[in-house]
Amino acid sequence: MKPAPVTLVRPRGVAECLAALDPADGSVVKVIAGGQSLMPMLALRMSTPDRLVDVGRVAELTAVVPGERVVELGARIRHRQLVDGAAGPAPAILGMAARHIGHDAIRNRGTLGGSLAHADPAAELPAVMVLLDAEIVCRSLAAGTRTIPARAFFLGPYLTAMRDDELLTAVRVPRADVGTRYGFVEFSPRHGDYARAGALCAVHTDPDGTVRRVGAVLFAVGSTPVDVSGALAAAEGHPLLACPWEDLATDAVASLPPPGEDGETAARRRLAAVALRRALQQASTLDGWVR
Ligand SMILES: Cc1cc2nc3c(=O)[nH]c(=O)nc-3n(C[C@H](O)[C@H](O)[C@H](O)COP(=O)(O)OP(=O)(O)OC[C@H]3O[C@@H](n4cnc5c(N)ncnc54)[C@H](O)[C@@H]3O)c2cc1C
Repeated sequence: MKPAPVTLVRPRGVAECLAALDPADGSVVKVIAGGQSLMPMLALRMSTPDRLVDVGRVAELTAVVPGERVVELGARIRHRQLVDGAAGPAPAILGMAARHIGHDAIRNRGTLGGSLAHADPAAELPAVMVLLDAEIVCRSLAAGTRTIPARAFFLGPYLTAMRDDELLTAVRVPRADVGTRYGFVEFSPRHGDYARAGALCAVHTDPDGTVRRVGAVLFAVGSTPVDVSGALAAAEGHPLLACPWEDLATDAVASLPPPGEDGETAARRRLAAVALRRALQQASTLDGWVR
């Protein structure tokens, strides 16, 4: 099939985007960024907007703005740029995760904002945002600028807290710090396929190597990224190299609501437990992404 006829507008600035997204004329309007998720949906006519607002020429959306404690990353930063370290002083887990998104052609076009707005439960970057306690910045003419915590942003599969007339302009993540190591592991049928299950973690340590706090998030095992940090609190106070990661990972996944008769979910959970153990082990060794 081919997409239904649609009006394409190509603004050069955010203000122009917001004007084009305003539904005052009753049109159904959608943003198009890399088009890697939206184009197939248009072609299958699963989405039939009247107007597409292409943000591909909006330079403001590509900025990386380092602050004292946070780094603001523009929504139009491409996955490839994250892999190549364009996020500067942001935590290395961004590049680690982005390298697992699809194939080169997809990473060359797909964008950070597009991945978050699309909210696929198997996507890597939404899980990274929950792990980092990121803030997602959205703008519209009607509601102005809203900053939504990542934990409140993902509401379900392909469902977010954004309004239809909002443009996701940026995300704010904490700056990388020397005491935090990261781990990332996902299982997919082939490299580049969406994950069947994945886990990522941040292990925060004191200068003497004692674990201060552990954050961990699973993806592709629920309708949104699943934060299992609470179930890893027992690691706190242990020397980094003596943490019982295998038991902790098994217990963390077991703490999720039972999958019932759902065999696929049960299988994904088993994979997630292995992914989490390996991610925690990765973060605890010299392979950990120390920044
Ligand atoms: C074969 C294949 C394999 C893939 N594998 C993976 C994978 O393993 N992991 C993964 O995470 N993704 C994967 N993807 C999807 C890819 O990462 C997309 O790049 C991403 O999901 C969407 O980014 P985009 O910039 O292409 O957004 P688009 O496709 O342009 O848009 C996606 C949605 O987000 C909205 N949107 C986009 N930008 C904004 C914005 N700034 N403000 C408001 N709304 C916005 C659009 O309106 C649309 O609803 C795959 C895609 C393909 C085709």
